[in-house]
Formats: sequence, C-alpha cells, structure tokens
Amino acid sequence: IRRPPRSTLSSSSAASDVYKRQIIMIEMMYDVKDRVAVVTGSSRGIGKQCALAFAEAGAKMVLNYVSNKEAAEITAEEIEGLGGEAIVVQADVKDFESCLALGEEAIAKFGKIDFLVNNAGINRDITFSRMSQEEWQEVIDTNLGALFNMSKACVPHMRDNNFGSIVSISSIIGETGNIGQSNYAATKSGMYGFTKSLARELAKDNIRVNTVSPGFVETDMLATVPADLLAGIKDEIPLGRFGYPDEVALAVLYLCSTAGSWITGSNISMNGGHNML
Ligand code: NAP
Repeated sequence: IRRPPRSTLSSSSAASDVYKRQIIMIEMMYDVKDRVAVVTGSSRGIGKQCALAFAEAGAKMVLNYVSNKEAAEITAEEIEGLGGEAIVVQADVKDFESCLALGEEAIAKFGKIDFLVNNAGINRDITFSRMSQEEWQEVIDTNLGALFNMSKACVPHMRDNNFGSIVSISSIIGETGNIGQSNYAATKSGMYGFTKSLARELAKDNIRVNTVSPGFVETDMLATVPADLLAGIKDEIPLGRFGYPDEVALAVLYLCSTAGSWITGSNISMNGGHNML
C-alpha cells in the first residue's frame, strides 16, 4: 500500500481519521487471512512472488514445483519467516493424476482450497517450420493442459464451500502472438476462452475465474531470450523497463481478495504500456 506523503494530509484530526479509516479499509480488502491458496510453479519467478504476497496477506500456502525441490523449500522457509504456513508438493502440472494428488494433499493439510493460481509454465521457442511435434505438445500440455488438470483438482472443493477464485497467468504473447512462439501463444490465448467459459459456469457457485497477462518480466524465463532481442524489446516498452515478479503478484492477489470481488471472466493486462488494448 502506497501511503501519501505526510505533507499532503490535512492537519485537522477529522481528515486524519478519514485517512486512517481508508488505510484500514484498504488493508481489509486485501486481507486473505486463513484462506488457502495453491500456486503452481511457486519455486521461482512470478509464482514464488505470488506465494509470498498471499502469505504476507495471511493465506496458508500450498507450494508446488516440478524438479526444483530446494528452491520450493526456500520459498516455504521465507513464508515461515513471515509468520505464515506453507506445504511443498511436487507435481507435474501436465500430468492429470499428479494434479489430483496435489489437490488431495492440500485438503489433507488445510481442509479446503480457496484460491488456485495457475502459474507454472514453460516456453520452447522456435519458428513453426522448425518446431517438432514434441515442442508443440509439451508446451500445450504444460501451459494449457494444466488449467484443466488443476481445475479438476480444485473446483470440487471450492464448490463445497461456495467460494473460490482461480487466476491463470497468461501473457502479452497470448494477446499479440510472436515469431517463434506459436506453441506458447496458442496456450496463452487458449487460457482466455477457458477462463471465460469457466467463469460463466462457476459464477453460480461464487467462484470467480480470471487471467493476468504480463508483458516481459524479469525471471529465469526472460533469461532464455537472446540479449540483443531483449534490448530491442525494452526499447518498445513505454515505461522503459521490464516488469518485476512482485508487480504481477499484487495483481493476482487483488483478483483473489475482496477488492476484486466483482471481477470474473476478465483479464488484467500489465506490460508497462507495451501492448495498449
Ligand atoms: P520461471 O521463472 O521459469 O518459473 C517457472 C515455474 O514453473 C517454476 O516454479 C517451475 O518449477 C514451474 N514449472 C515448470 N514446469 C512445470 C510443471 N510441468 N509442473 C509444475 N511446475 C512447473 O517462469 P516465470 O517467468 O516466473 O513464469 C511464470 C508464468 O508466467 C508462466 O506461466 C509464464 O508463461 C508466465 N509469464 C512469464 C513472463 C515473463 O516474462 N517471465 C511473461 C508473461 C507470462 P521448477 O522450479 O521445479 O522447475
């Protein structure tokens, strides 16, 4: 929460009471105390920052990784350092049974699932002419198949409580397409159709479903892009910089919190002005 500088506040106590009430209201609206959040791919990057933001706001965390156990355990330790609670569950999001097991572990530990953040994702960038069937399928199964798998694992538990919020991390590439990313772009665009359909189906169960579409964000994934390409991309961003993972995390938290309670079937596009819709 960015607080206005003291000098801009009126010195009258009535005005400062109003200001204090506003701060309390803002803090309450972002409060997710005792909610349970599952964040896929929370060992690193955007997923890790989502997990930290949710924990900071009071949620109990179910962390997930596919191969990087140590990094996931470090995230859990950082959450415990904030006074929060977290379990770490290995699961491959492209594997249906693995996702069901992740959901069951969450229920066994915390008894409910309130939020699902579909964050885990990969890229296998290569132009279409050279793309193998494996490079196509792996990206489809990991980035898009996971939305089916994880929703199957979590939605029944959300319906039991007549409450839930699902946020999937799409991408600017899903909005614009990109050379060398037809597989990745297909998954990120596909998320919009899945999200809007699920939002319509699950509204009656008080479950909201949305996407966040970041532009280029400073994570390990960005490190896979050649340096000369990155410099050119940065020049195209009106704000003149790449995003930070915690900026994306705050948008995800907003969508899950009371502050986002009337938002469903929607998308938050955030990219420093790179793609103005
Ligand atoms: P990242 O730093 O490469 O981290 C990827 C995360 O996903 C890791 O935690 C990884 O776990 C996990 N993961 C990968 N495959 C998995 C699988 N099969 N099952 C379970 N977990 C898996 O990625 P990021 O940049 O933070 O990206 C996160 C999401 O944001 C992705 O969906 C990406 O497409 C999207 N996005 C990123 C950018 C960007 O510029 N960075 C922009 C727009 C959208 P391990 O640590 O175990 O490998």
